[in-house]
Amino acid sequence: MKAEIITIGTEILIGSILNTNGPYLSQKLTDAGYDVEYHASVRDKYEAIRDAIETALTRSDVIFLCGGLGPTQDDMTKQALAHALDLPLIFDEKQWDYIRNVSMSFSKNITENNKRQAEFPEGAVVIPNPKGTAPGCMLNYEGKQFFMLPGPPREFEPMADDIAANYLNPVHGKNFITSLRLVNIGESKCESMFREAKIETENVEINTFAKTGEVEIKVIAHAEDEAEAEIIEKEYVEALRALRELFSEYIYGDGERDVFETLVDCLAEEKFTISFAESVTGGNMAHMITSVAGASNVLHESYITYSDEVKEKLLCVNPDTISKDTVVSEAVASEMSLGLFEKTKSTYCVATTGEAGPESATGKDVGTVIYSIRKDGEEVLRESRMYKDDRTTIQYRSSKYILARILL
Ligand code: ATP
Ligand code: MG
Repeated sequence: MKAEIITIGTEILIGSILNTNGPYLSQKLTDAGYDVEYHASVRDKYEAIRDAIETALTRSDVIFLCGGLGPTQDDMTKQALAHALDLPLIFDEKQWDYIRNVSMSFSKNITENNKRQAEFPEGAVVIPNPKGTAPGCMLNYEGKQFFMLPGPPREFEPMADDIAANYLNPVHGKNFITSLRLVNIGESKCESMFREAKIETENVEINTFAKTGEVEIKVIAHAEDEAEAEIIEKEYVEALRALRELFSEYIYGDGERDVFETLVDCLAEEKFTISFAESVTGGNMAHMITSVAGASNVLHESYITYSDEVKEKLLCVNPDTISKDTVVSEAVASEMSLGLFEKTKSTYCVATTGEAGPESATGKDVGTVIYSIRKDGEEVLRESRMYKDDRTTIQYRSSKYILARILL
């Protein structure tokens, strides 16, 4: 099933916003077994939207129109679709009541313009928008299927989830898809390793995606019917097994959960706790962990111990160690995690020191990140690494890597 996503908005084309809706929906569709063949982005211009729809009709089975469902004159997605398909727009009294009620509950003024949001191309099925006033809709037209969704991501994303779960036609046959998530390896090395190991087959497709501080390997297979599914599933399971073995020292998890979410899940399952004493990462590890729902089950306490003085006073780092080895040293990281353990008694105690730049304040190379991890007081990991990034990226990538080390 060939899918096409058309994102509508001048903001996207002039570079003032990042198109997050397209990739979000693409992932949902790929997981549902659809082949997303095209993405198009067009300005809020009637002719541009209509042309994009006409092109999509020649090459795609399912077409998603994202954005431009608002009440203003520059929102004209439904109008352009109705024109392209030569269908009238029908005013839906029931939806109008709904839009009025929702607007009142959001304390928004309702204007005559809002009536446009209650118009739909003839034959469209309305898809509710629980987060906003503009409902979406679905339209079947001469064997093609259209979906229309509003632009704001906080409205778009739950509706994309709803469509993926409840409105898509099931794809013929059976799909297999798994994401493996890796750290401490580059995308090109990852690709050359699996190619050399000849893991990909005619039926099992393997793709790699580079993300900040990690690589994702997506393994995808599709079977047309039950008989084929039996054979293909075996190939798919074997490919996954071979990949897990080949990349065992890099894989921290699989599926949709990132390092921070996976760590919170794993620690909670074991009833383990974690605490941080962060210098170079500046609280970023604690921030990433507290961004995960359920963090309170695992995060004990956390300190940003930036100055030498606080490292000494709070974590009992020996001043002689700092003067002998400098504050950016494995010895200091190790004493920091020890002091943290004495203070918190957390299962995992993680300490960082380093030099995030842009100028070196310590004489150590910019990009140096040193960490020490203790489990039940015993130092299980200590390492000095080098990052060639800007300050924020050094903090983010090193936080991701250090926390992934607990999972590896
Ligand atoms: P509204 O009633 O808010 O106007 P709408 O359906 O008409 O809803 P748009 O006008 O297309 O939506 O977009 C509204 C806002 O949503 C944009 O200004 C932008 O901030 C965000 N947005 C739109 N499209 C995208 C996209 N593809 N990715 C990320 N954000 C988007
Ligand atoms: Mg709009």
